[in-house]
Amino acid sequence: MRDITIEDMVEITVDDRVITAKKGKSVLQAARDNGIRIPHICYHPALKPSGSCRLCVVEIASRSGRAVVMPSCAVKVKSGLWVKTSTQQVLASRLNAFDRLLRMAPDSIRIRRMAEEFNVDIPGLPDGCIRCRLCIRVCRDIIGAKALKMESLDSNGGDVVPEPGRCLGCGTCANICPTGFIRVDDHDGFRTVSLRGKTVGKLPLVRCEGCGRMYVTSDFLNHVETATLDHPHVKVSHKFCKTCVKLLSDKTQSARVTTR
Ligand code: SF4
Repeated sequence: MRDITIEDMVEITVDDRVITAKKGKSVLQAARDNGIRIPHICYHPALKPSGSCRLCVVEIASRSGRAVVMPSCAVKVKSGLWVKTSTQQVLASRLNAFDRLLRMAPDSIRIRRMAEEFNVDIPGLPDGCIRCRLCIRVCRDIIGAKALKMESLDSNGGDVVPEPGRCLGCGTCANICPTGFIRVDDHDGFRTVSLRGKTVGKLPLVRCEGCGRMYVTSDFLNHVETATLDHPHVKVSHKFCKTCVKLLSDKTQSARVTTR
């Protein structure tokens, strides 16, 4: 193999720093070889560049003074090339590229870390809530507990947060939530309703008078009993879980048919 000579090298200027690079290398490779950081994700030294992630854009000016914003992986070094890695156009283009990538891969830690390193302001991780407010409305308008509310209304639409001490543990919000954002966990005789890792309510469960299974919180049972005071027949059935209510109602039906 022939030794590299001075004729094989070119000088380019990156952010006012003159560096040398071997002819045939890309601007991105030359920058990397000289310890200059340019964000990139789709570049691999073993593969031909594709410029598809658009993260490695830089502003390139030739001797004529004409400047263009281009992916640095796709431009070969040429003597006298001027490269700027953080002009306004570059930063705007880089922001768009990060935005586009994170829309496709919002959980990518690698892309997020890279954005942080290059001070690119990107949205936080999505939390799974689509701000439809179904949970808030059902809790307020149907259950009457008012245990959920919107907080800090902003351009994202704010966040659903718990109103402390109001949850009855009915689980209706979790059932109606279209994305599974609200969780209900029954464990050790307690029901915990939570969202975004925050507890909305942790309440004791009571047993079904039919099968003995823990199926409802005492707070919700009391709430229903108070709300159905004028309907004693409804009140009785609330002491039973859904399965037992069905069994009892089937039994009553068949008894009616037999006695006809
Ligand atoms: S579980 Fe709590 S927050 Fe959810 S609807 Fe019932 S009372 Fe409201």
